[in-house]
Amino acid sequence: MITESEKISKWLIENKIAYINDFNISIRSWLKAGGIIRTYITPKDEQETIKVVNFLNSEKYDYKILGNLSNIIIRDGVIFTPILNLSKLNQINQKLYIDKLELKVDAGVSIPRFANYVMKQEYSGTESLLGIPGSVGGGIYMNASCYGSGLTDYLASIKSINAKGEIIVRDKKDAKLEWRKSIYHENEDIIISAIFQFPTSQKKNIDIIKSKSEKIKFHRKKIQESDRPNLGSLFATKNLYSDIKFKSVKLFILYIFFKLMQIMINNKIYKKIDLLTFRKKINKVYRKCFQIDTDNYFSLSDKTINCLINNGSQKANDAIKTVYSIKKIVGEKIKLENIILDKIK
Ligand SMILES: Cc1cc2nc3c(=O)[nH]c(=O)nc-3n(C[C@H](O)[C@H](O)[C@H](O)COP(=O)(O)OP(=O)(O)OC[C@H]3O[C@@H](n4cnc5c(N)ncnc54)[C@H](O)[C@@H]3O)c2cc1C
Repeated sequence: MITESEKISKWLIENKIAYINDFNISIRSWLKAGGIIRTYITPKDEQETIKVVNFLNSEKYDYKILGNLSNIIIRDGVIFTPILNLSKLNQINQKLYIDKLELKVDAGVSIPRFANYVMKQEYSGTESLLGIPGSVGGGIYMNASCYGSGLTDYLASIKSINAKGEIIVRDKKDAKLEWRKSIYHENEDIIISAIFQFPTSQKKNIDIIKSKSEKIKFHRKKIQESDRPNLGSLFATKNLYSDIKFKSVKLFILYIFFKLMQIMINNKIYKKIDLLTFRKKINKVYRKCFQIDTDNYFSLSDKTINCLINNGSQKANDAIKTVYSIKKIVGEKIKLENIILDKIK
C-alpha cells in the first residue's frame, strides 16, 4: 500500500513542484539538532504555494510552514507531516515615491538581506535587524525585533494564504502584533509577502547608517551567544534575570548580587573583574540553580541565561527536555520564545 508521504511525493513529481526527501534538520537548523523531514516542499512562487495548500487540504493532510529554522526546536525521528518552505520566494521589488520607499518583500527573503537592501538605498531603520537570521515570513510571524527596532516597524501590509487556500491581505493594524506574537499564531496562515514603506524622513547618510549598524554588531557580539549553535532568546522576555527573581530565595539573592556588582563594575568601583567575565561567572551559578550539569549537551549561554546552546549533540529531544526543565523553574507566566515541535507527527 502506498504511504501518505509517497502519495504526496507522487503528486509533487507529477506537478513538477520541487521538494526534498529526508531533509535533515540537524544540519539545517540553527540549533543543529532535530530529526528528518520526510517531505520538505519548496514551491517556486505564490501560485505553486496555493496549489500545494489546495492539494494538501483536499487530501486532508496536516501541513506546517517553516522558515530558516532559527527559532524552532523540532523533535528527533522522522517527521511525516509535509513541511512547506518558501525560501524560493525571495524577491524584493522596489517602488520609489516622492514621500517614501516602498518594498514588496517575499516571505523567503532573509531578514539580513532585507535589512542590507534597505541600508543600501540609504534608508535607516533596519540596521539592528542584521543579526536576526530568520526569514521575513518567520520574522513577521514572530514580530522579531532587536535593540528597540522591529522588523514590523515599517510594515504596511501582509499577504498570506489561509487554510482554505485563499489570499488574504491584512493591514499592519490588523496583524495583532505584540511582543513576539502576531495574528499568525492564531490562524496558522502562510505569509507569502509583505509591503514595507520607509518615509523619506528615514533617508540618512550612508556613513551614519553604516556606523550605527557596526556599533550594534559590536555590542551584539559582546552580549549575545556567538560561539555555539543557538536560537537567540529562549524566553519571550526582555529581562529573564529580573522576571525570575521571586522564584526562590536563592534566585532573589543572586539577582540583587548581580545588580550590585553590575553597578560597581560599570562605575569602576570594583575593578578586579570586567563585566563580561563577571556575567560568565554568575551565569554559571544560574545554570546550577536550573540544575544544568556541566556535561549536559544542551545548556545556557555563558553570556546570557536566556539562550539555549548546543554543545555538540544532534538530539533535539534532549534540548526539549532541558527547555521544559528550565521552564518548570521559570514558571507559567513567562512564555517560551523558541517554538517547540515535539508532538508533530
Ligand atoms: C543567532 C540568533 C540570533 C537571534 N536574534 C534574534 C533577535 O535579536 N530578535 C528576534 O526577535 N529574534 C532573534 N532570533 C530568533 C529568530 O531568528 C526569529 O524568531 C525569526 O523571526 C525566526 O524566523 P525563521 O524564518 O527562522 O522561522 P522558523 O524558526 O523557521 O519558524 C518560526 C515560526 O515561524 C513560522 N513561520 C515561518 N515562516 C512562516 C511563514 N512564511 N508564514 C507563516 N509562518 C511562518 C513557523 O511556522 C514557526 O512557527 C535569533 C535567532 C538566532 C539563531
